[in-house]
Amino acid sequence: MNSIIANLMQVRQRIELATLAAKREPEDVELLAVSKTFPARAIEEAMHAGQSAFGENYVQEAVEKIVQLEKLRPWLVWHFIGPLQSNKTREVAEHFDWVHSIDRLKIAERLSSQRGEFPNMAPLQLCIQVNVSDEDSKSGVPLAQAEALCNEVSKLPNVVLRGLMAIPAPNPDTALQHQAFAAVRECFVGILAAHSVDPGFQFFDTLSMGMSDDLESAIAEGSTMVRVGTAIFGKRDKINA
Ligand SMILES: *Cc1c(COP(=O)(O)O)cnc(C)c1O
Repeated sequence: MNSIIANLMQVRQRIELATLAAKREPEDVELLAVSKTFPARAIEEAMHAGQSAFGENYVQEAVEKIVQLEKLRPWLVWHFIGPLQSNKTREVAEHFDWVHSIDRLKIAERLSSQRGEFPNMAPLQLCIQVNVSDEDSKSGVPLAQAEALCNEVSKLPNVVLRGLMAIPAPNPDTALQHQAFAAVRECFVGILAAHSVDPGFQFFDTLSMGMSDDLESAIAEGSTMVRVGTAIFGKRDKINA
């Protein structure tokens, strides 16, 4: 098995090549290392290789690791990217910097008011998760409802609306990968155009899309943040991961 450091270098190279191919700048795409199911020491190893942004899916597991790595907290940026139930929002508001998986107003409202209880923390950065695959099983708001939800979220205190996130159904056909990511980009561009002078959209700059198997397609279609787990940390062996 490759080391985390070697894997990270390889992923960074993939990002660089993909941005060059798309005539974009490598620094326009941020790498989020998805560390779910991997222990705190794997995160530390990645951190020593220059990685600072980490994504987690499960609240309990994530908070344990965030607490374990408390000493490194100033150098780490924690992104919550998994499905979020109402009864877990408080812990997320207390420990995370970003949440990518907002798909209903109620969750954003809870995060907003609970973040207010931590006045020393920066506002929580939020992305609206959109559903591009039209499957009932996938979370995310339909593209047609994304703007309305963005609009509501942009008015909440203690949070900042940052953009859209998508997890298209995995597809080996790169043409279909492009199609799904392009639909998210078009939705993003449309929302941005409609709110260009709206102060609540001042920081609406993030398209969180692309994972280990499809990051090249996502970058070609405008992704600004790729969420990569397997290609950095290796295969996950937990059943629900
Ligand atoms: C697990 C996960 C990833 C990373 O997937 P890989 O295929 O391992 O790169 C990215 N985004 C979300 C929301 C995830 O749950």
